[in-house]
Parts: sequence; C-alpha cells; structure tokens
Amino acid sequence: MIRVTRRQVLGGSAAALLGALHPGPRLGAQTASAGPPAAQLLEDLVAANRILADQAVLDGYGHVSARHDRDPARFLMSRSLAPELVTAADVMEYGLDSEPIDPRGRPSYLERYIHGEIYRARPDVQAIVHSHSPSVIPFGVTGVPLRPLYHMSAFLAAGAPVWDIRAAAGDTDMLVRTPAIGQALARSLGSHAVVLMRGHGVVVVGSGLPHAVFRSVYTEVNAKLQAQAMGLGGPVTYLSPEEAKRAEGSVGGTLGRPWELWKRKLRRDP
Ligand code: MN
Repeated sequence: MIRVTRRQVLGGSAAALLGALHPGPRLGAQTASAGPPAAQLLEDLVAANRILADQAVLDGYGHVSARHDRDPARFLMSRSLAPELVTAADVMEYGLDSEPIDPRGRPSYLERYIHGEIYRARPDVQAIVHSHSPSVIPFGVTGVPLRPLYHMSAFLAAGAPVWDIRAAAGDTDMLVRTPAIGQALARSLGSHAVVLMRGHGVVVVGSGLPHAVFRSVYTEVNAKLQAQAMGLGGPVTYLSPEEAKRAEGSVGGTLGRPWELWKRKLRRDP
C-alpha cells in the first residue's frame, strides 16, 4: 500500500504518485536483453562489415545487421560507425522498432528502420545489408532493370524492384529515418532478394550473413557487368528463369568458399 502524505501532494509529486499507483505497460519487459548472441554470429557480423568494406560495397557509410539467434524479435548491428572499423564491442541489440535495447549513450545509424521493418515483414530474412554500392545506383534512376547477366547473380532473376522514397514520403533528405518510411521500403522489397533505392542505394537480404554478403558483392558485380554489356551496343542475353533457378541452386551450395576466402583476406590485413 502506498501512503500519500499531505506534504508529497502539496509538493507537486501527485503525478509521480499516480504513476506509481497506475504504472501502465511494463516497460522493463520490452527492454530486457535477449542475452548475448552466439560468439560465431558476433564474429561473422564483424567480418561481414569488414568484408563488404574490403569488397568496396560499403565505404564510410552503409550497415549490416543479423537477426539475433536467441530472439527473432531482436537484431544485432553496430553503433553508428564506418563498417571497416566495427569490432564486437560496437555491436548493439535492437528491437523490431529499430530502437537499441541498451544504448548507453552510443549513437545509432539514422537509417536503422530499414532493418527493423524488414525483419518484421520477412521472417525468412536473417541478415540485411544496406549500401550505396556504386555500380547499382544508375539502375535506380534510369528505369533500366537490373537483371542477372551471369550465374553468380542468378538471385536477381525474380527482379530487383526500384523503391522511390518520394512516392512514400514526398521530398525528403533521401534517408530512411522513420518507421513509416522503413515500412514502405519493406513493402517494395516484398519477397525479393534485392530492392534498389532511387537516388540512394540498395538493400540486400539473405538467409544468413554469408548469404547476404555474397548477394551484396554479386549485385555490385552484376551491375558493373550489365552496364558494360549494354555499352557494347548489341542485345544482351540474360539468364532464363530456368537457368537462374538451376544456377542459384548450384552456387548456393558453395557460399562457404568465398566467405572463407574473404575472411582469410581480412586476417592478413594489418
Ligand atoms: Mn543510406
């Protein structure tokens, strides 16, 4: 039983006491950590950041996240930091509202809503990359569709939709800085592997970090090769849907090979 003294009421603390009597939703239940992620997941998330910087998909900007292995309603992502500099100590836990569970003063990426809203909309997605992958940008602004030119990018066969932030939010600074804009982007991604962001960049999703990293690297390579092929002037032959299906199946079994190579190259670096 809470005793309200005359002095407390007169002292203006009545509102606080009302709060104590009617505490409302249990905030503590929503802010408790899901617990530490598996060491391998954390190591892979740090590696993914550095690999994508090494492969020139990420530069000083962009981010990678992974769904938490202990709780599908949580994801892991670095504090606001250039990807190449990310270490395990920089990784924070986020809710699907894209807010950090225990920020302790550490700033978050402005565009974190990309991640939370896609994890919410796509239960199959375990890792997400947002980049400004340079060769992809022209395909977001010209109406020329990005299509699979060779077997490594067979995952593009279902198409890479172009999302225009202007249709969702009018004139903006182009950043996905609210949950509503993130939801519009997630709707445009739909069930695809890749969504292009007009005048900005790209989002790539995968069934795990090696998968999302692989797709990000080969989305960039395909865009570069497709522009070269179109520049040669003749008609371009793309993978047929059946070829793409078979190629994705074959290449999908070998994802560990480039992943181990890319990780090894990091260890050689100072
Ligand atoms: Mn961005």
